[in-house]
Amino acid sequence: MRKQERANFIAEVLNEYFPAPPIPLDHKDSFTLLIAVLLSAQCTDARVNIVTPGLFALADTPEKMALLDVEEIREKIQSCGLSPTKARNIKALSQQLLDFHRGETPATFEDLEALPGVGHKTASVVMSQAFHQPAFPVDTHIHRCAKRWKLSDGKNVEKTERDLKRLFPKESWNKLHLQIIYFARQFCPAKKHDPDTCPICSQVA
Ligand code: SF4
Repeated sequence: MRKQERANFIAEVLNEYFPAPPIPLDHKDSFTLLIAVLLSAQCTDARVNIVTPGLFALADTPEKMALLDVEEIREKIQSCGLSPTKARNIKALSQQLLDFHRGETPATFEDLEALPGVGHKTASVVMSQAFHQPAFPVDTHIHRCAKRWKLSDGKNVEKTERDLKRLFPKESWNKLHLQIIYFARQFCPAKKHDPDTCPICSQVA
């Protein structure tokens, strides 16, 4: 099967298995999503969803968050890992939203990526899930699947993002990135997988 045919087939399978993938991180607006995505670095979504209600009960807006001490934030997010750095970034980011964006979450890659602790992947998730702009955030699951499916050579996440964007129509990117994550978690973990029964690789070899 040629690469484009493989991509089309994979999109069909993913639509069949995950027709309406939900957003995994609990949030109520763009600010709480931004904080949740920042917390999800090197942490599971399930763990982030356990931690955020306590944090957001204390502060769910940039105004309230900027008033907290870094230590207060750190205590609430401790179980997420990298909590000292994340707490510092959350406070600084909230202050920057107040100083430069009137307390609003900016809806451009450039402004999002200028915020403390916000890289291209975090910005992509926020652009996609809060602002419904086409983006293809590549996490470890998507990077791994793209390589296993021979849609990219797996050189680095930047290349994987470029390759996937070329293969799939823009209007499918936001849904597709969630579908691949759900598929990877259920069928295509880093260690164990069964190519003979898998709905994808058994067909696209
Ligand atoms: S066979 Fe393995 S590598 Fe291929 S999609 Fe299935 S689980 Fe992933």
